[in-house]
Amino acid sequence: MTTSAELFELASRHIPGGVNSPVRAFKGLHRPPVFMERAQGAYLFDVEGNRYVDYVGSWGPMITGHADQDVLAAVRARLDNGLSFGTPTAVETTMADLICEMIPSMEMVRMTSSGTEATMSAIRLARGATGRDKIVKFEGNYHGHSDSLLVKAGSGALTHGEPSSPGVPASLAEHTITLSYNDPEGVEACFEEMGDEIACIIVEPVSGNMNCIPPQPGFLETLRRVCNEHDSVLIFDEVMTGFRVALGGAQAHYGVTPDLTCLGKIVGGGMPVGAFGGKREIMQNISPMGPIYQAGTLSGNPLAMAAGIALLTKLQVPGFHDALTQRVETLCTGLQERANAANVPMMTQSAGGMFGIFFTGQRRVDNFAQATACDPEAFRRFFGAMIDQGVYLAPSAFEAGFMSSAHTPEDIQKTLDAAEKAFALM
Ligand code: PMP
Repeated sequence: MTTSAELFELASRHIPGGVNSPVRAFKGLHRPPVFMERAQGAYLFDVEGNRYVDYVGSWGPMITGHADQDVLAAVRARLDNGLSFGTPTAVETTMADLICEMIPSMEMVRMTSSGTEATMSAIRLARGATGRDKIVKFEGNYHGHSDSLLVKAGSGALTHGEPSSPGVPASLAEHTITLSYNDPEGVEACFEEMGDEIACIIVEPVSGNMNCIPPQPGFLETLRRVCNEHDSVLIFDEVMTGFRVALGGAQAHYGVTPDLTCLGKIVGGGMPVGAFGGKREIMQNISPMGPIYQAGTLSGNPLAMAAGIALLTKLQVPGFHDALTQRVETLCTGLQERANAANVPMMTQSAGGMFGIFFTGQRRVDNFAQATACDPEAFRRFFGAMIDQGVYLAPSAFEAGFMSSAHTPEDIQKTLDAAEKAFALM
């Protein structure tokens, strides 16, 4: 038998860090990543034959569980027709119609191959449509790895950004303004000073990349208002929250309507897919209709469209999201009870089908500074104890957890039993 540790060593010879995306590497967790062989429903199975209850769900897409038979059947049904044609296909129209029906603020939509492309393209569109260069993002929000979005805050809220990775030109990063999440006053002050130079605000309407941080009441509303006042474009990055927080995404859940929306993950059913869309008036600036260039050889790939359509269709069953939310609440309440009983400072936050576990004595975590103040060592110990008992959590204290409709009450109970033991060891 080949172990995960052996496979990781082999992988590391020709793949940087042994992984094709950094967070998979279990960095800082003092153990090699687990190599998975297959997945079914709520479970992952590793190369050594161990089974895990999975709360990562391929980082979000697997909302009905892994290897969903309807999704696989839709892909199989198209497989023999060929993989890609580089021409329009009718299935792309079906996908566009479905997205625009499920998220009414999206009057037109363009498919991409990843979430990164969706956000990068939406930013270019906002800049091109407004004729402005500056963009606003929030500290701790992740929008993929395009240059303008890999920027961290400068020293003060209103300073311009600095690259958060070598390779991002400082001259580009200076156009990105990074503000604090859940701080409406900071946003107002920024727009007061330079609102008429700002092309757009891009925001995760529920933040899922600094653990799980929902918006405070009024925060998203403030973003909407300042964008209206200054003719800036409001972009919701719903790559994670789309079809997960509610059927119509976070914008339906919180009742705030953006101008543009970015999608990914669920919209591809596990295939490499992203999408961006919104107001017709803005979207019609995109090439070939308008002058703003955006393209993709594999965009709208027919197999990916088939997978995504099959999955989105399943989510429309009445009550799907209520049941998913209920499962998350059962898990979070159970975890809290067990942490309290063991005197472990921990709390949870959630929105629809996503949740976060914070090792802190605070009652709320609203921004990046508070999220990074949580105890990383407690997370590391908890993560290790959970994975050793067959529960696979995101291998980082700064990632949200994802529930699927395939998680049974027994799976949740197994998770809570494991957590009880994990807390006792902490
Ligand atoms: N936006 C958000 C909110 C994300 O969570 C992610 C990925 N986790 C992205 C954009 C980038 O998507 P991708 O990894 O598909 O490029």
